[in-house]
Amino acid sequence: MDENGDLKDLIRTIPDHPKPGIMFRDISTLMLEGGAFHETIDRLADLIEGEEPDLVAGIEARGFVFASALAYRLRCGVLMMRKSGKLPGSRVSIEYALEYGTDMLEMHDDACGPGAKVVLVDDLLATGGTALAAVELLRGRGAHVDQALFVIDLPELGGAAKLREADIAPLSLVAFE
Ligand code: 5GP
Repeated sequence: MDENGDLKDLIRTIPDHPKPGIMFRDISTLMLEGGAFHETIDRLADLIEGEEPDLVAGIEARGFVFASALAYRLRCGVLMMRKSGKLPGSRVSIEYALEYGTDMLEMHDDACGPGAKVVLVDDLLATGGTALAAVELLRGRGAHVDQALFVIDLPELGGAAKLREADIAPLSLVAFE
């Protein structure tokens, strides 16, 4: 029995997006349902272990949606992990591998002080490359990051195992095999 099956049922699957053979899990359909979105945020908050964070770090763009609502509920700040070229201030960057090619994440270099307790948030965990890049950037600024929250995990792609190897607890609500 999937305890978050009610939320899972609201996530639409779009075959062959963005390319043939990929089953894209479209979370926008869940976001459109007010009660389910609210419940998603509450359940994500309940997954957090230990002390409440100083900041939640959301990954552009869908991660922002969940991170900001979660931060409101936790009364903490939101740190934006952005794609290349969007942040106006002095920033640190990291390039990471995608299935084909590379991408880049950036954060303002003064966004968190050393020792800040940060929880990472994104909509979906696949290979873990994006989340690991974000963790590396945050740790590079001295942040303590040991938990990452996702609405969806795709366990077959191995991201959760890679995060555990980096001493990050991957916490998610629903899985698609
Ligand atoms: P990873 O780096 O773990 O391989 O991929 C995760 C990143 O790609 C996340 O930022 C996520 O938003 C995006 N992503 C990859 N596949 C999907 C998908 O099927 N659905 C959604 N909503 N996002 C995806």
